[in-house]
Amino acid sequence: MTNPISPQKAQRNIGEKETPCSSVSSNAASGSKPLPDWLDPKPWLNLQFTAADVERALGAESPDEKTLSALLSPAAADFLEPMALRARAITRRHFGRTISLYTPLYLSNFCNGGCLYCGIAGDRRAKRAVLDEAQLRHEMEAIKSMHLEELVLLTGERMPEADLPYLRDCVAIAAEYIHNVNIEVFPMAEDEYRELAEAGCTGVTLYQETYDQIVYEKMHRWGDKRDFFARLNAPNRALRGGLRSVGIGALLGLADPRFDLLCTYRHAKYLLKNYWQAGVSISFPRIQPQLGGFRADHPVDEKMMAQYIFALRICLPEVPLVLSTREPQHVRDGMAGLGISKMSVASKTTVGGYSDDAEESTEQFEISDERTVLAFCEMLRSKGLEPVFKNWDSTYREPAKYVKSEI
Ligand code: SF4
Repeated sequence: MTNPISPQKAQRNIGEKETPCSSVSSNAASGSKPLPDWLDPKPWLNLQFTAADVERALGAESPDEKTLSALLSPAAADFLEPMALRARAITRRHFGRTISLYTPLYLSNFCNGGCLYCGIAGDRRAKRAVLDEAQLRHEMEAIKSMHLEELVLLTGERMPEADLPYLRDCVAIAAEYIHNVNIEVFPMAEDEYRELAEAGCTGVTLYQETYDQIVYEKMHRWGDKRDFFARLNAPNRALRGGLRSVGIGALLGLADPRFDLLCTYRHAKYLLKNYWQAGVSISFPRIQPQLGGFRADHPVDEKMMAQYIFALRICLPEVPLVLSTREPQHVRDGMAGLGISKMSVASKTTVGGYSDDAEESTEQFEISDERTVLAFCEMLRSKGLEPVFKNWDSTYREPAKYVKSEI
């Protein structure tokens, strides 16, 4: 595996001046730029809805943004059952009775980021670790023994210990074992994403965390991640770089969830319109206990979480919706097939967690559902659902070429 590169290169500019839309003022300060028109949910955010409006939204033949706003509103909280029934019917129509499985693998928890909500931020006393080649192969063998064929490789922010050359080598090694290798790492430049696509990477997960710029600035105290628009544009760069799928989402609890979910919807629609051949999925991460003791300003309870998942499923019928092991067992069991079509399983959030190299103090957040692959699949089958281990073949592994779009 390549040796760590110099810290200077680790701070590569990935397009901080990039703006996602011509309507954004070019001379405004980074934190105060207005949201681009394609993302701004204001027309729908301020509407008030009654129970009758929610009933109408539930009956909509072609659910749109107004439908979503109604289903995310407080008035829809009393309609969980009909929402669940409609969400389940739509999920069955588009995904059958299947649940795709994947697992995350933490390569490194070195990070100098200042994210207030993270257990491995630069100012936390977390034990730091990075996998070397032998340890990575050990982890891959452990994951392979569980028959999983989809993987997400994770790091913190761009650091000398885990920069592009390291990541490229890790992708190539992981691709020897697993068909579908994805990344959840720092935002990169288009040519860097292309390098990873050529090494065998198929997709990227990159949560905006929150689309509320004021909250975003407060949460990201220092570091590259403070650049809201560089992060917002990263999925575009990843797809232009040849990756085949992007996963987006907001970290529920940071800001007004209705605002963040309307933005998430708009972001997904924008990507689907401009990269119609790409796969776009949405995850529902929620603030969990971690080192540092951060508490959510806008807590999202389990009922709210269910309402939001149903609403997104009804309004984005074909988009895979993802739920991780951050959520407790009963929430995951309840949501499987009821809107959610993809789930992580047997996850470890420690570096080296799948093999004997685990260090408990390196974890980013606590896992709530610790079931084995076998136990989780038994639960799915007991509900009439079929776990899917493989939905991609490495035969097709080469950078994607998208029809050019003007964005
Ligand atoms: S959320 Fe990511 S970038 Fe932020 S401190 Fe944690 S690991 Fe670093």
